[in-house]
Amino acid sequence: MFHTVQKPINLLDLDLPRLSALVSELGWPPFRAQQILRWLYQSRVRTIQRMTNLSLHERSYLESNAVIRRFQDIQSCSATDGTQKFLFRLDDGNMIESMLIPDGQRLTLCLSTQVGCTLDCTFCLTGQMGLQTNLKAHEIVDQVLSVQDTLHLEQHLTSLVFMGMGEPLANVEAVAEAITRLTNTQWGMGFSPKRITLSTAGLATRIHDVAALGVNLAISLNASTNEQRDVLMPMVNRLHPLPALLSACRAYPLRPGRRLTFEYVMLGDVNDSALDAKRLIQLLKGIHCKINLIPFNEFTSNAFRRPTDTRVNQFQSILRQGNLDVFIRKSRGREILGACGQLGVLPSPLVSIQQQHTTSIT
Ligand code: SF4
Repeated sequence: MFHTVQKPINLLDLDLPRLSALVSELGWPPFRAQQILRWLYQSRVRTIQRMTNLSLHERSYLESNAVIRRFQDIQSCSATDGTQKFLFRLDDGNMIESMLIPDGQRLTLCLSTQVGCTLDCTFCLTGQMGLQTNLKAHEIVDQVLSVQDTLHLEQHLTSLVFMGMGEPLANVEAVAEAITRLTNTQWGMGFSPKRITLSTAGLATRIHDVAALGVNLAISLNASTNEQRDVLMPMVNRLHPLPALLSACRAYPLRPGRRLTFEYVMLGDVNDSALDAKRLIQLLKGIHCKINLIPFNEFTSNAFRRPTDTRVNQFQSILRQGNLDVFIRKSRGREILGACGQLGVLPSPLVSIQQQHTTSIT
């Protein structure tokens, strides 16, 4: 039975074992747990009354003790290139951001895992905030649920990337639970793990944990020497210097058909020289990978500059001559501070989002 509690239970707070325990405590059959999860993650309902395969009595009983507490206050703004930034207010008043990035048939959502970040990469706006708090699993998943609710019924998110605010591997338990809810095909949202990418700044000792999650792994490299990385990513590189990071990458158990991705933010006259490109070729020798070059997105209060297109193209050519697979990432959403490394400030104008489109379960 429910015990005296100060606040009703938020069903989204419960993972499958905890929900199963609750269902068993109520004397309900075990399959009720998965039924409830399907309503939460596949139908995206916001009220217990919508769970129509529970009896009226069961719904009323559940409702008197539990709630579905999703994000209430959602705002968004759009860029002329079609990207959309979403701002969600957490229960504790903190704000987090997600970016929706349409690209042809693809619709990618970039997710946050922390409010602010533990790390202090010198080119990153989020890093300047410091760490406010870790997100809970349901706050990570609610970014996906809430954005999907704003889309037309025929539109579906195709890819998820953990590249928003925060270092996912510094909040790995919540991230792992969120990935379970996003990928489970029986009661979860059913995303293929191949369509999910987790990007880390390089917590070398935790990289191995990503393999068990089945998702793609990206490493934010951004330097061609240990000394350079000490300047650009001081905290993470002090804990996990470049040689240790690359050893962990070499030892990473890649699944068949997969490869690692290295992200390289290009900073004008800092890490974008021909010599940097040649050193990168040496560093990545023998690692099955591709490289994404990300020309820096400038913001006020930061002295780094974006390199010229010519410089970026030359860098790519040199890497290609070294037989590396290299792509230049288009900067999307720059004017709404939604591009890579720019999450953390609120642009204007913002528009409040009215919820929702939901599907139903029979
Ligand atoms: S780049 Fe990533 S890891 Fe580094 S401070 Fe920014 S959010 Fe944190």
